[in-house]
Amino acid sequence: MSNEQKTLFSKIIDREIPAEIVHEDEKCIVINDINPKAKVHLLVIPKKPIPTLFDLTPEDKDCMGHMMLLLPQLAQSQGLEGFKTQINTGVTGGQEVFHIHVHLMGNK
Ligand code: 5GP
Repeated sequence: MSNEQKTLFSKIIDREIPAEIVHEDEKCIVINDINPKAKVHLLVIPKKPIPTLFDLTPEDKDCMGHMMLLLPQLAQSQGLEGFKTQINTGVTGGQEVFHIHVHLMGNK
């Protein structure tokens, strides 16, 4: 994939753009949102650059399940007793970066 075609989050995954990385494993990366809307505002991002939830296929089940299981672990490691999650989908759904990501937000 050429650099112009890469998503912002793929560039962060490939360390071409800096970010505060909170967690990384073979399936996903977790970063602090650059414009936090809560004391803790993480973005959980699959390494596979799937544009939106509309583009998911059955082969993405493992990765998406992995990210869901990671959410409460991340929240606990950030000292949160509760948290909100959000996945914006499509322009009319408020999505700005077309590489699926789960927002994890919470206040201590
Ligand atoms: P969306 O509206 O697509 O669901 O959310 C995109 C999120 O990415 C926004 O909350 C925005 O603040 C965050 N964001 C945009 N650019 C950057 C960046 O360069 N670095 C980081 N860490 N977050 C970003």
